[in-house]
Amino acid sequence: MSKLTMEELVAYCKQTGFVYQGSEIYGGLANSWDYGPLGVELKNNIKKAWWKRFVQENPYNIGLDSAILMNKEVWVASGHVGGFSDPLIDCKECNTRYRADKLIEEFTNGKETGDNWENERLLKFIYDNNIVCPNCGKLNYTEIRKFNLMFKTNQGVIEDAKNTVYLRPETAQGIFVNFKNAQRTSRRKVPFGICQVGKSFRNEITPGNFIFRTREFEQMELEFFCKPGTEIEWFKYWKDYCAKFLKDLGLKDEDVHLRDHEKDELSFYSNATTDIEFRFPWGFGELWGIASRTNYDLTQHQNHSKANLEYVDPDDNSRYIPYVVEPSVGVERLLLSIMFSSYDKEKLENDEREVLRLHPFLAPYKVAVFPLIKKYHSDKALEVYNMLSKDLMVTYDDAGNIGKRYRRMDAIGTPFCVTIDDDSLNNNTVTVRFRDSMEQVVVNINELTNFISEKVKF
Ligand code: ATP
Repeated sequence: MSKLTMEELVAYCKQTGFVYQGSEIYGGLANSWDYGPLGVELKNNIKKAWWKRFVQENPYNIGLDSAILMNKEVWVASGHVGGFSDPLIDCKECNTRYRADKLIEEFTNGKETGDNWENERLLKFIYDNNIVCPNCGKLNYTEIRKFNLMFKTNQGVIEDAKNTVYLRPETAQGIFVNFKNAQRTSRRKVPFGICQVGKSFRNEITPGNFIFRTREFEQMELEFFCKPGTEIEWFKYWKDYCAKFLKDLGLKDEDVHLRDHEKDELSFYSNATTDIEFRFPWGFGELWGIASRTNYDLTQHQNHSKANLEYVDPDDNSRYIPYVVEPSVGVERLLLSIMFSSYDKEKLENDEREVLRLHPFLAPYKVAVFPLIKKYHSDKALEVYNMLSKDLMVTYDDAGNIGKRYRRMDAIGTPFCVTIDDDSLNNNTVTVRFRDSMEQVVVNINELTNFISEKVKF
């Protein structure tokens, strides 16, 4: 359970340089956030960890980086032009705007999600259960309207319907349209998967909760292609794989749970969906969606593009459109979960310290270098800094007493601090202090890079 409220986390992220308000000096832009010197490192490390686990180490998967702007027919085929919309409802009394399904989800504490319900059913549930406007307390809403979440723009100089393009609302479609290219060129046999990390854009009706729901965000998506009839087996494989990844990153079991979608909540093309949810301060919320999507996507693209997307199985010459299992997670949502679960306030004998217990692989700086006394030890300390920075993200601090410098590093999650003192000048050794245990060991400078590199692996 997090030791921070959302307001405290936002203030902490700003003050330490993880996340700033977007366009701040112009008064901000609602719901946009910029990642500071520490935030960009943490974000990159999350993406690296995912890529390592899902592409580098996994025997089935390969990577891809497709364009954000795609032929608009892609979004017709995928169903986004016709149906990627949220149910929008306004309170007639105070004009506050809501997502009807989220009103229900919040009112029932997540027991009902309203996912994939028709407008009529949503409105009836709201009135039958007397779900009043959370802002003014009245029960007087407009009809529900569908609001398409895709950002639209034009490609080229002329603004007309012919050159409409959309900012992609998910990275997945870039994978589907490259299914044949990637399969052929990598000479993969089904089952195999394609992974992609990249920006997505959704004109969300009710963004909020800091970086939990934003209009611009990054996704890490896998589309896993398998033989029809084997998809539920693979669905389980990927559920376990994703849950283990989160555990390995340091999320605690009690803060993570898997919620299987009920039949009436499933999208019409899905035969199984599970959300991995994280315990945010306001309750459990979706972190990672894992869906068995049957052959819906490839079939849609085959029908619309007229390209043949069938796979011919070289073992028995059978032809089929592969079934797909899709685990899709947001980088920023994962970052938020990691921040909540890593932050700790620890009571010490005569003191208290703030410590961010990040997995060392995720830590923005792996190591901090301190000259004990600036006047005497700076030259050697800079030498060590330069040596370490060839392999690791290092920071340098020569201000204040060593205790204060330790505290600053604890608060931003730096797992190792290296102090340069007289022994460094005389014996070529340094003191390495560990963030979590606060223990110290002496290490020879010649072995220091290896000593730390070994401990920051994922
Ligand atoms: P929600 O029900 O919260 O709107 P969703 O079911 O629409 O989410 P998916 O389309 O399954 O989400 O997207 C996969 C993942 O991408 C989500 O689990 C989440 O981690 C991330 N994600 C989706 N929308 C946003 C957003 N607006 N801001 C940040 N992350 C997002």
